[in-house]
Amino acid sequence: MSTTENLKYIQSQLPAQVKLVAVSKTKSNDQIMEAYQSGQRLFGENKVQELIGKWQELPKDIEWHFIGHLQSNKVRQIVPFISLIHGIDSFKLLSAINKEAEKCDRIVKVLFEFHIATEESKFGLSLIEAEEILSMPEMQAMKNVTIAGVMGMATFTDNETIIRSEFERLATIYMFLKERYFSQSSQFCEISMGMSDDFSFAVSAGSTIVRIGSKIFGIR
Ligand SMILES: *Cc1c(COP(=O)(O)O)cnc(C)c1O
Repeated sequence: MSTTENLKYIQSQLPAQVKLVAVSKTKSNDQIMEAYQSGQRLFGENKVQELIGKWQELPKDIEWHFIGHLQSNKVRQIVPFISLIHGIDSFKLLSAINKEAEKCDRIVKVLFEFHIATEESKFGLSLIEAEEILSMPEMQAMKNVTIAGVMGMATFTDNETIIRSEFERLATIYMFLKERYFSQSSQFCEISMGMSDDFSFAVSAGSTIVRIGSKIFGIR
């Protein structure tokens, strides 16, 4: 199936309020433009250099999400244009983003990444670590970042029960933080979870943003 057909199919599977990030990492500008021509405006990348190149060359009404592991020393390059940074996993990274965003007079939206999978290799915070960050006095002083919700990745497995319970756990973490720290913030509203092979489970668990690559653009 073509990129356009894949996009149509996935959109037909998603409730209207769930946003679709087309994950275009490793894919060419031509492939991205095919999705763009069929109306897609939201794309996700996980490498800073690759993202910069695509941002420079492609239409400026594309909304770019950074979905990878971001190093503090690369923050400066993407802060001027990024719409949402999904993978905040340290106070250091958050304050680097705040500092750079202040310089370019922007308020940058970010998501706290949680470690919900059983695999060791996946990045992300524990709930305790997130609460430590949120309780820091310096947090109140950060005027140029908005914490817009949470993000996570399920274990890479065929076991539906495991995947569902991990997504449900992320949704529970979201609701806990919402009540405890963000009850006054309408901006804390996103749960980014679900990829090509597990997005339907993520949607049933309450996902508001799915990040889909291979089911749109083909395998990498
Ligand atoms: C690559 C990637 C995706 C998309 O994965 P697919 O299985 O191709 O849909 C989603 N989220 C993150 C963080 C990724 O790195």
